[in-house]
Amino acid sequence: MAQILNGKELSAKFRTRLKEETAELKDKHGLVPGIAVILAGDDPASAVYVGSKEKAAVEAGFYSVVDRVPASVTTGDILSLVEKYNNDPAIHGILVQLPLPAGVDEKKILRAIKPEKDVDGFHPYNVGLLNIGEDCLMPCTPLGVMNMMADYGIDLKGKNAVVIGRSNIVGKPMAAMLVKADATVTVCHSKTKNIKDICAAADVIVAAVGRARFVTADFVRDGAVVIDVGMNRVDGKLCGDVDFESVSEKASFITPVPGGVGPMTITTLMQNTLKACKKAAGL
Ligand code: NAP
Repeated sequence: MAQILNGKELSAKFRTRLKEETAELKDKHGLVPGIAVILAGDDPASAVYVGSKEKAAVEAGFYSVVDRVPASVTTGDILSLVEKYNNDPAIHGILVQLPLPAGVDEKKILRAIKPEKDVDGFHPYNVGLLNIGEDCLMPCTPLGVMNMMADYGIDLKGKNAVVIGRSNIVGKPMAAMLVKADATVTVCHSKTKNIKDICAAADVIVAAVGRARFVTADFVRDGAVVIDVGMNRVDGKLCGDVDFESVSEKASFITPVPGGVGPMTITTLMQNTLKACKKAAGL
């Protein structure tokens, strides 16, 4: 039976540390990390995420601003907000909640965020730095996965890792981080042949497919580490991309859904904001 990688517990531990570090930063340097979130439109899932981000920021002791704008907003309106926060010294992290309403130019907006305030790590400058293996702000979900594996002492050096999914927010940055950690990485996607065989040879599988219970026990060799990024709704219940019940019989470590990767993402966003704040102050 696999050991559970408990994202909920780990996230709580990281948040306590974050709060302590924030308090110390204020005491020693008079600095308060600031985060601005722009939420456009009324997508209910986005509203929940933004609410959780706001709560996490306040709990950490950050200065937090949320701009809620209607779905009728234009690209120009959001660009003006981004520009305002780019020039605001009290703001160290800017996040534009995706997806944006139809008609808004997402690429243009993400590229307008100053790379040093890009706490989501989506700006092409940070994407480039990640891919050449340099220090930068990195996407929160895959970075949370890396932090989780590190905390549980999972050694990635020389391991065969398979990432299922090649999105810009999860799959691709996940693969880049695993390469940086000296794993040998295969990226699978919807056109990949023999995914099952590729996965069956893996020491580490990261599933970021968006398909409920896609990874079944026959994908997994005995003792593999299985990370489930998926968040799917089945009959109103949250369900991962991994068939937890059967896979946990074979894996050495596994993340549950909920309570695995999910809680790590917002915590990592806060860690990125703290990092951006310290860097801005030359610390
Ligand atoms: P996405 O943009 O839809 O990407 C899905 C990827 O899976 C694509 O690369 C797609 O291939 C691939 N894929 C789809 N069907 C496949 C199949 N049958 N066989 C092999 N590959 C297949 O999704 P995402 O944004 O990366 O998110 C993935 C999952 O993670 C979703 O469930 C999402 O809700 C969840 N998520 C969770 C968090 C968190 O904090 N826990 C954060 C972000 C996302 P193609 O490129 O060929 O289309």
